[in-house]
Amino acid sequence: MFGLKTQCILNLEDEYKPLEAYQGAMSRWCPGCGDNAILAAAQRLCRDEQLPPEKTVFVAGVGCAARFPHYMGTYGFHGLHGRALPVAEGIKMRRPDLHVFVNTGDGDCCSIGTAHWIHAIRLNMDMTCMLHDNSIYGLTKKQASPTTPVGYKTNTTPRGAQLSPINPLSTTLGVSNISFVAQVVEWIPELLYDIIKQAFHHKGFSFIRILQRCPHFMPDFFASVVSNPDKVLLLNHENGMQISDTIGRIYKNHEEHDPLNIHKARELASLEEVVPVGIFFRDETVPRYEDLRKPKRAPSSNQIDTMLNKTFDKFGIQTDTAEVVKSGNGEGSGSGKK
Ligand code: SF4
Ligand code: MG
Repeated sequence: MFGLKTQCILNLEDEYKPLEAYQGAMSRWCPGCGDNAILAAAQRLCRDEQLPPEKTVFVAGVGCAARFPHYMGTYGFHGLHGRALPVAEGIKMRRPDLHVFVNTGDGDCCSIGTAHWIHAIRLNMDMTCMLHDNSIYGLTKKQASPTTPVGYKTNTTPRGAQLSPINPLSTTLGVSNISFVAQVVEWIPELLYDIIKQAFHHKGFSFIRILQRCPHFMPDFFASVVSNPDKVLLLNHENGMQISDTIGRIYKNHEEHDPLNIHKARELASLEEVVPVGIFFRDETVPRYEDLRKPKRAPSSNQIDTMLNKTFDKFGIQTDTAEVVKSGNGEGSGSGKK
C-alpha cells in the first residue's frame, strides 16, 4: 500500500505539463490587443521550463495588463493600482522558492506606482517584471499616461499631450543597483519569447519594457514601426540577444552591444529615430535584497530558546517585584513599600 502511494506521487511530479496546464480563463482583451501576444509568450515559457503551477505567481496592479493573472493557470494576485511590485516583493521575501512575475502597465507602473518601481529596481529581488507599454490608459478609456508622446490627443488632452513623456528605459537605467533591462516589441514573437526567457533566467530584478499595441484606442500608434522593419534596431551580443537568420533577414539594422556597458545602454535608451530591441544591461553580481536579509546561519534551538526567554523576561514579573505585589495584596495597595 505504502509503495503504491509513493509511486503515484512520483508519477504526478514527473508528469509533463502541456500548455493547457498554464492557461486560465478566456482572455477578454480586445481582438488584436498586444497583451494576447505577451500572454502567449508567458504561457509558453512556463510550459517550456515546466514551472510547477503551484510554485508560480503572476502579480498585477490595475489596468488592461493587470488582467494577466486571471488568464494564467498558475497562482496570481490582481491587486491595487500601482502596487503590484510591493505585493510581489512580499511574496518573494516570504517564499523565495516561488517563481514571481509582475505584469504592469504604463499608467500602473510609471504614474501611481513610480515609487514602488524605483525601489523595486534598487531592491533587486529575483523576479521578472513586464511593463506593457501602450502609451495610454486603456481600461479607463483613453486618458494620457506618462508615456504618451507630446501632441497626442487623448480624452484628458483633447488638444494634445503637453508634457514630455517618461522614458521607462532611461529611468530604470538611472537607478542604483539595476541588474537587468531589456526592451522588446510584442509583434515579433520570437524575440518577445527570447527576452522574457532571458529575463526569467536572470538572478535579480529583470525589467522588460514591452511596446504593446492597443488597437482599440491607439490604432495607428505603432503602425509606422510595425510596417517598416528599418525602424527597428536589434541589439545583439553573445551575452545578450542572439539574432536568428530569419529575423536577421527581415530586420537588417543590427548593433553589437555588450550588456555590461551601462553608458552605451543609456545612449541606446535615448534613441528616438529607431526602436532598439534587445538586452540593454545585465549584471548578475548586483546584490539581491532577499540574500542580504537572509540570516547567515539558521539559529540553533538553544539560541532560539535564549532569544525567546530574553524577550519574555521583558514582560515577566521579577521575583522581588512579585513579593512586593504579594505583600501589597495582603496589606493594601502600596503598603509593602512604606
Ligand atoms: Fe488592449 Fe487597448 Fe483593448 Fe485594453 S483597450 S484590452 S490595451 S486593445
Ligand atoms: Mg497603458
